[in-house]
Amino acid sequence: MPPPNPTKGKAPPPPNYKTIASQYAAAKRAKVAQDAKREASEADHNRHVTLGERQREALEVARKKSYETRWLWTVGFWIWMLCIHLVGIAYFTSGFLLTRLILDEKSTCDAPPTLNISSSPVHILPPWEGKGTVEGGCWHPKTFERAVVVLIDALRYDFTVPVGDDAAFHDAFPFMYDAAVRSPNNAFLRPFIADPPTATLQRLKGLTTGTLPTFVDVGSSFSGTAIEEDNLLMQLRDAGKRIVHLGDDTWDALFPGYFEGNLSRPYDSFNVWDLHTVDNGVVEHIFPLMSRKNEWDLLIGHCLGVDHAGHRYGPDHPEMAKKLRQMDTFVRDLAETIDDDTLLIVMGDHGMDSKGDHGGESDEEIESAVWMYSSRHVFGRTKPEFVTPPSTAKIRPVNQIDLVPTLALLLGIPIPYNNLGRPIEEAFSGPAGNSWDNLAAAERTAAAGLKRYQASYFSARNIEQTTTPGSPTDLWNRADDLVLGTKGKNRPEWAAVYSAFAAYQQETLQRCKSLWARFDLKNMTFGIAIMAFGVIALLVYVSRGEDDDDDIIDDPELDAAEKSLQMQGEGSHGEDIEKRMVSAALFGALPILGGGLLQAYLSGVGDYHRGAGFAALTSIATVMVTLFESKETLFRLVPKTFWGWMAVGFTLSQSIGFASNSYTIWEDSILVFFITTFGFVTALAALRLPSLADRYLSIYHSVLFVMLGRLASFSKLCREEQMPYCTSTYYASATSSTSAPWQLAVPFLVVLILPPIVKAYLVPTRSYEGMAPTWISYAFRAGLFLSAIYWALDSADNGNWIDDIPDKLLKNLSVYTAQTVLGLALVAGTTAFIWAPPCVSIITSATRAGHAQVTVLGYGNAHGARYLFLPLNILGACILLSKPMGGGALALMAWQILSLAEILDLNAITSSPIGPVMLAILGAFHFFTTGHQAVLSSIQWDSAFIPLFTLRYPWSPLAVALNTFAGQIVATTALPLLVLWKVGPKKKGLLERVSRALGMLVAYYAVEALATMAWAGWLRRHLMLYRVFSPKFMTAVVALLVVDIVGIVISLTGVRCNTMAISEVFGWAE
Ligand SMILES: [Zn+2]
Repeated sequence: MPPPNPTKGKAPPPPNYKTIASQYAAAKRAKVAQDAKREASEADHNRHVTLGERQREALEVARKKSYETRWLWTVGFWIWMLCIHLVGIAYFTSGFLLTRLILDEKSTCDAPPTLNISSSPVHILPPWEGKGTVEGGCWHPKTFERAVVVLIDALRYDFTVPVGDDAAFHDAFPFMYDAAVRSPNNAFLRPFIADPPTATLQRLKGLTTGTLPTFVDVGSSFSGTAIEEDNLLMQLRDAGKRIVHLGDDTWDALFPGYFEGNLSRPYDSFNVWDLHTVDNGVVEHIFPLMSRKNEWDLLIGHCLGVDHAGHRYGPDHPEMAKKLRQMDTFVRDLAETIDDDTLLIVMGDHGMDSKGDHGGESDEEIESAVWMYSSRHVFGRTKPEFVTPPSTAKIRPVNQIDLVPTLALLLGIPIPYNNLGRPIEEAFSGPAGNSWDNLAAAERTAAAGLKRYQASYFSARNIEQTTTPGSPTDLWNRADDLVLGTKGKNRPEWAAVYSAFAAYQQETLQRCKSLWARFDLKNMTFGIAIMAFGVIALLVYVSRGEDDDDDIIDDPELDAAEKSLQMQGEGSHGEDIEKRMVSAALFGALPILGGGLLQAYLSGVGDYHRGAGFAALTSIATVMVTLFESKETLFRLVPKTFWGWMAVGFTLSQSIGFASNSYTIWEDSILVFFITTFGFVTALAALRLPSLADRYLSIYHSVLFVMLGRLASFSKLCREEQMPYCTSTYYASATSSTSAPWQLAVPFLVVLILPPIVKAYLVPTRSYEGMAPTWISYAFRAGLFLSAIYWALDSADNGNWIDDIPDKLLKNLSVYTAQTVLGLALVAGTTAFIWAPPCVSIITSATRAGHAQVTVLGYGNAHGARYLFLPLNILGACILLSKPMGGGALALMAWQILSLAEILDLNAITSSPIGPVMLAILGAFHFFTTGHQAVLSSIQWDSAFIPLFTLRYPWSPLAVALNTFAGQIVATTALPLLVLWKVGPKKKGLLERVSRALGMLVAYYAVEALATMAWAGWLRRHLMLYRVFSPKFMTAVVALLVVDIVGIVISLTGVRCNTMAISEVFGWAE
C-alpha cells in the first residue's frame, strides 16, 4: 500500500472547501506558469495562459454537464430495473399466494341449511319455542341471551394450564383451569388452534367469519379493511342486536359502524411499548357495563398487554408474569358479574414463539386457549377424562373457526354463510355429557351449512364434485342415511350420527384447504420469466469487459489529446450505453403498456397488470437488442478469470441450495462458510504478489476478514427448526426479547474500537485529512456513544434498575437520545456529506531549483476516503436500530468491508464481480447476525419505537426496514467504496464502474430472489412450503427491492455528490 505522494510533514487541515480549491488552483496555476515559462518565450506567455484558462473553464462546464446527463441516464436505467423487479415479483405473487373467492351470500334466520339440502325431512330435535326466530333460536334452541367475549391477544395455551416448571410466566393465570376442573358444568378450557398467518387482523377475520385466511392478507395487517362477507357481528347487527367494543382498534377497521358509539372505547393497537393503556381501559370500562346488561347483547373486550409484553420483553420476564396475574384477577372478577343469561368467553387469537413474537406458523405461535363460562350448569363432557383441560395444546385441540358455529347456535343466530367450523362439543353435550341428540343436531346444522357453502362455491368456480368413497359427498350421504335409519328406532344412535357429520366436516375442511392452496401456474411462470430475463439483461450489462471502460488513467498526453478533441466538439461522451438502454426500454415498454391499459379500460375487465407484464418483457427485449448492438453477447457471461468463476460459484450454489429446506434453514452457517472460503483463497492468492509488503498485507486482511466473520457469527437468533443444534445469543435468553446486561458492553466497545479502526484504514493513504478527523473522531464517535447510552437507558427501563424514578422519564430520555443519534447520522450527516470538501490537505513547497512543488495529502484515495463518510452515516443509524448485539455485528461488518476493499485493491481485482458478490454475501450474512431469520416472527417490530413514542408514518415502517435489512442496506451503501477505494481524482469512468458493480451486487440478490421464486413455485406442494419456502421467498424479494431502492437513492446519488465535490477542487476528469 505505497502512499502515492511524498509527505512533507503534517500540515494543519484546512477547514473548508474554498480554501482547498483555491489553494489547489493557485498552486496548479503557479506550476503551469512555470512549465509554460520553460517552453514558451516571454512574449507569448500572457496570451497563452489566458487562452488556456478560458478553454479550460469551458471544458470544465462541458464535462460537468455531460457527467450530470450521464448520471441521469444511469439512474434511469436503475429505475427501469426496479420496475422490472416489481412487475416480476407482483406477477409471481399474484399466482402464488392463496386466493379464495369470497361469496356474498348471507345466512338468514328463516332458511336453515337443513331445509332443502337433506333428502330426509327429518328433525333430530323436537320443535322448540320460538323456532326460526332470533328470540327462540333460529336454527337451534338458544342457550344464552348475550355474550361477553374477552380476547387476550397472544394468550398462548401453556399460559393457562399448570406446566410444572419454575418459569414465572407459567402458573400465573390459574383461574380458568381451576374453574374448569372445580365446576366442569360451568366452565371448560381447551386448546384453540389458529390458522396461520398468526396476525391479529387475520385471526379476527377467522374468528368472526369461520373461514380460512388467505396468505395474501398478511400484508394488509397495517391497514385493516372492513369485512364484507357474512360474519357473526353482521348476523347480530342484522338481528337488531347491540354490540359494544372495548380495546384494540383493529375491530373498528374490520367492523366500521357496528359498535354502540357511546359505550365503545377503541385504543391504538400498535404501540407495543405500552403494556397497560389498552388493558386498563378495557378493565375500567367493562365493569360498569356489567351492571347495564340491558344496553348491549355482545360485549367485546380486546386486551393487548400480554401480546405487547411478549414483543417487548419475551415471555420469560417479570413483566409477563405480572401481566398474566393481572389478567387472572380480571377474568376472576369478571366471572363474578356474569348472570345466568350471559355467556363469558375468554380466548386468545394466537400464541407467541419462544421470544414473544408471532406471525408465522410454528406450534407455539398457533397454540392459543379458549375458555367458556356460565353461571348456569350448561357445559358437559362426553367422557370423564375430558374434565381436566388437556396438559398441552396437542391434545383435543379446537380449531379457532369452531367458535363461529358454537357462538351462533348458543346465541340463536344463523351460522355465517362461509363458515367451515363445527360446534365445540362441551357447549352442546349437556351437563351430564350425554345429550347426543343435541350434539347431533348442532353438528348436522353446521355440516349442512358447509354443504350449502361448498355447493355454491363449486358452482361459482365451475368445479365438479366427486362422489368417490371418502369424498365429502360420500361422507354426507352416509351421515344422512344414518339420520334416516336412526330416527325410526327406539333408542336413537345419535352419537354415531354426530361422528358421521363431524367426519364430513373434517373432510370438507381439508378439501377447502387444498382447493385454496391451488396456485395460478400461468401467473407464476410469467412472473418468473420476467425476473429471469431481467437477470439476464442485468448480467449482460455488467459483463462488459474491462477493455470497454473509458478509463485512461492519469495519462497527461492522452488527456490533453482528448481535451483538444472535446474543445473542437468531437469525441464527446454522448454514446453512453445507459442512455441507449433507457431509450430502448421506453421504446419497448410504452406502446405495450399504453395499449394494455387502454385495452383493460375499454374491455372493462380491469386486468391492468397484464399490460405491465407484457411491457416489462418487451422492454427487456429491446434493451437486449441494444446491448447486442453494442457488441455485448451472451458469451460475455462466461467468466474469464478464476475470481469471476468464484463469484458465479457462490451465487449459483446459494440458488441451488434453496431447493432444500435444510439448506434454507441453515443459510446463516453456509454464508459463514462462503466468507471463510473467500478469505482462504485470497490469502493463497496473496502469495503470488510480487511485493513482500503487499503479500503480508493481503494475507493479514484476508485472515482478518475471516476472523471478523467468525466473530460476528456469534450473534445469532435461532429459528425453531434449528433447535436443538443452535443457541440464540441475540437476546438475554431463548425466551426473551431484551438484551442481557453483559450485552450492553458491546455498544460501548464499538465506541472505543470502531473510530480508531476506520482511521487506521485512512492513514496509510494520508486520507485522514480535511474533515475526516472531525467526522470520525468526533461526530461518528459521539453518535456511537449516544447509541450505547440509549441501550443502557433502555435496559435500565426494562429491568427497573432504578427505583423511585418518575414513570416515563427513562423512556423519554431514551427516545430523545435515539432521535439525536438519527438526526446526527441521517440529517446532519447527509448535509455534511453533500458539502464536505475532499479529505485532502495541500502543501506548496519550493524545490531546490526554485520551482513550486504541489503536494496533495490524500490525493491517491481522494474518491474513496470522502465517499466513506456516507456508509458511515448509514451505519451509525443502523447500529442504533439493531440492538446491542446487532450493532456489534454491524461494526464488524464495516471492518470487514474495509478489509475487503484492501484485499481487492492489493490483488488488483477491483473490477472483478467477486468484490460486489462478496459484499452481497456480507449483506445477506449480517441479516442473520442482526437477529433475523427468514421467518415472519423474527421481524423486530419494537424497533419502530426506538426513536418514537407512538406509531408514525412513514417513520415507523422506515425504522423497521432499517432494522430488518441493515446488512443489505449497509452493503449496498458501501458498494461504491469497492470501486472508489484508493482512486485519485483524475480517474475516468467511475460512474459507469460503480453502476456496473452495483449491477453485480443486485444480480446476486436478483438471482437469489429468482431462485426462491422458482423453488417456492416448484415445491408448492411441499410440506414445508409455508414454514420454510414462502417466508424465504418473501425475505428474498423484499431484500432485492430494498437493495434496488438503496442503490438508486443512496449509492448512486452519493457517488454523484462525491464526484461533484472532488471535481470542484481538482477539475473534471470525466
Ligand atoms: Zn402481536
